[in-house]
Amino acid sequence: MYLCIFNIKDAQKVVNNPYNKRIDNQADKVVRGDIMSSDGTVLATTVTDDDGNEQRYYPFSNLFCHSIGYSAKNGMKTGVEQSENYYLLSETDNILDQIGSDLTGQKAKGHNVTTTLDVSLTQTAYQALGNNKGAVIAMEPSTGKILAMVSNPSFDANDVDTDYDEWITYDSSDSVLLNRATQGLYPPGSTFKIITALEYIRENKNYDNYEYNCTGSAYISGGTTIACFDHNAHGVQTLKNAFANSCNSAFSTIGAGLNKTSFINLCNTFLFNSNLPVGFEYSKSTMSVTEQSSISEMQETAIGQGKTMMTPLHNLMIASAIANDGVMMTPYIVDKVEDYQGRIVKQTSPVAAATVMTEDEAEYLTECMREVITDGTGNSMRYASDINAAGKTGSAQYDDTDNYHSWFVGFAPYDNPQIAVCVILEGGYSGQAAQYVAKKVFEAYL
Ligand SMILES: [Zn+2]
Repeated sequence: MYLCIFNIKDAQKVVNNPYNKRIDNQADKVVRGDIMSSDGTVLATTVTDDDGNEQRYYPFSNLFCHSIGYSAKNGMKTGVEQSENYYLLSETDNILDQIGSDLTGQKAKGHNVTTTLDVSLTQTAYQALGNNKGAVIAMEPSTGKILAMVSNPSFDANDVDTDYDEWITYDSSDSVLLNRATQGLYPPGSTFKIITALEYIRENKNYDNYEYNCTGSAYISGGTTIACFDHNAHGVQTLKNAFANSCNSAFSTIGAGLNKTSFINLCNTFLFNSNLPVGFEYSKSTMSVTEQSSISEMQETAIGQGKTMMTPLHNLMIASAIANDGVMMTPYIVDKVEDYQGRIVKQTSPVAAATVMTEDEAEYLTECMREVITDGTGNSMRYASDINAAGKTGSAQYDDTDNYHSWFVGFAPYDNPQIAVCVILEGGYSGQAAQYVAKKVFEAYL
């Protein structure tokens, strides 16, 4: 009976456990399966030389080093190589075949894993990042399928057995092994105004009458002075105008007046300070507002400059929920697992993680994000009528000097979303830089 329980319930967990050295025995009997893109292009495979020595081979070198990851000779694994380790080393031959294989010394073939990743979109995203440090992640909002995920700096996964020590001793700011798309924590900057705007419309039923006269900066008694970008005075702003122009004066004033309890609850619903429902490695986003937070902290948090930290993956999930009528889908990267004869072993179905807002709220935020492109800070996509994007830009100051991270998060087309994208570029950029990267990804996909 225990054998049954083990095989059905515990085997995957035990085999995947990095402390389980018996996995090495499994690798002696099974040739590790392939990992493929959504169209069946091989992204990782096992090659065997004339002497029978096996080597893991990654035909695209750096391109999928963070998403597919690597499987090193010393047992270290990351990405899909790690999460699907159990399946890659499993085979479906019956017990007689297994005994037969053992007697003849012939190895069985492990299962093959098909991912949701699109090769040419991944190439576009990687090239658009260029030499910048940062990340691009794209998914289908209606399903949660991750279409592309790249992080820079990158490494050639083929060299993991020889160069690993060098990679970990690099300057820490390079962190080549870090998957910035899922593990990089950044201040959200103005992309957080999506959350602030939603909280405001929930607390104020007459939000359509909102009006604020921006003079370039705002001071609130008991708080702090918050300036708009370059101290530009935006003049009279509706809520949509303030969102589209990313008016810090308006949004910090809104932040100071929010109900803390309900704001904290909203952030919890959106999975800040929570685990994300994903089957791969990621970092938790943090939001530190409490009932005791000062007016200054509320002002700063409302414009994404407080102590809030989030990953590009999480920001993408929020934008995707808006694109998907308020339903946040569970992101996934493994589409299916098949045995070497093509029989399905495991198939992923899209799963809704949560309904985080009403359809009306999603529609209103879509209108706000559309206005960013047509009349606001998202001007580099303004005349790309074949994209018709909706989105939010952000430039997040991360030290006392004028150093910024550049964000873009959004989806396209705004009235029938096919793809959502989040881009982060580290250091010294305006809010513009990330838009250009996102634009290339949208154009390539649509
Ligand atoms: Zn302003």
